[in-house]
Amino acid sequence: MKTCQETTSAAVIDAVVHYAESLLDLHFKSVKKNRYSAPCPFHADAKEDFQVYVNKDDEVRFHCFGACKGDWDICDLIVLRKQYRLRKARQVWAEYMGAGEFELDAGGGACIPEPDDTSPPDDPVGFVEPMKPDQKNVAALEEAAKFYHDLLMLNENRFKPIWDYLARRGVGKDASSEFNIGYAPPYDDEQHQGRALVDGFLPRFQKNYETFKAFTDAGLVRLLNDKNAREYGYYCRQIDFRRKYPFSRNYGDSLAGQMVFPIYDADARVTGLLGRRPGDRGIRWLKHQTREVPLSAREWLYGIEKAERYIRQYRTIILVEGVFDYFAFYNLLRDQDKPVVVSTLGAYVASEAAAILNGLDIEHFIVAYDWDELGRNGIERMVAKSGGWLYYLGGLAKDQSPYDMLKPVVKGISGFSLEHPF
Ligand SMILES: [Zn+2]
Repeated sequence: MKTCQETTSAAVIDAVVHYAESLLDLHFKSVKKNRYSAPCPFHADAKEDFQVYVNKDDEVRFHCFGACKGDWDICDLIVLRKQYRLRKARQVWAEYMGAGEFELDAGGGACIPEPDDTSPPDDPVGFVEPMKPDQKNVAALEEAAKFYHDLLMLNENRFKPIWDYLARRGVGKDASSEFNIGYAPPYDDEQHQGRALVDGFLPRFQKNYETFKAFTDAGLVRLLNDKNAREYGYYCRQIDFRRKYPFSRNYGDSLAGQMVFPIYDADARVTGLLGRRPGDRGIRWLKHQTREVPLSAREWLYGIEKAERYIRQYRTIILVEGVFDYFAFYNLLRDQDKPVVVSTLGAYVASEAAAILNGLDIEHFIVAYDWDELGRNGIERMVAKSGGWLYYLGGLAKDQSPYDMLKPVVKGISGFSLEHPF
């Protein structure tokens, strides 16, 4: 009786290499005794980062020294390539090695999570911004924003559920155009398979690796075989070996499955993208959970490019939490030619955002948040610094009218009147 370990020891490395070559459609070169290398089949590998070798426990292991940093045995690779469960993969391998009687080895070598047949990971709000605000990355963000916007605008029938959802949340076709709102189709979308952006830019990625790198560094494109990512099991199952080019085989759109809202600074430059999954279930604002989401989106103020001159004119600002709260207020205020609303994308003003607002000479801070202590402290500090007035309205409830909320408050602000919207 043989165990899985015995069928992957140094004695059989040639068989393992041979099998892996046909499994993954690549060719290994000998590096030295019991060590071979090839371009990694799981990322866009310009070198030969993928190695197979015998470790000190006499096991044949595969390792990527490049972007994936993954470590596998042959059975893990069968799981990845064939989308089998680990048990089945071990059986397939044992049969290949002619081990008639085969005992499943329960050892801890398995590093690929079992598929759970569930829907995409529950990550309802996503943010994308460059790792460092480099001009190339910002250009990539701008191109991506335009790409997703065009995709949504040109496919009104195909993405009807998205259009319907946006309309229900107060975002019509005009606002979608005005704010360059877009859509990144999900991994289970038949046509795009979560790679609308990747496929759209594939010719340019192939021509110039630097372009590809600018998109990856901007956070727009994700490596599917990233062992450090949350929900690794889900994403590595999206690797599509039928695709010829590594860019499209091994990478997907970071914002797949989400509506895309470009975030601009006061000078109307794109500084990031906000992704929001359609549907109201489990919305979490992740902006300041820095341990979970390593973001420094601390200057983001959604709508500031529209609001700035009116904020200065009326010395008044309305701060709201979410992007759809923003549109509820914007729809009312734009018609009255005073869109002084900004969303802080969370019930909290980071010190960097506060510094921008403190530069606008604001006297009246109207806050429509469900705030907690952290949020309240941040706001109070900011208002105290400017010597202005704070009006706290609470969060905008479902079906509540922003007009009803604002009316009693704006009475006390001279020069800032609101007409009834109907
Ligand atoms: Zn790799």
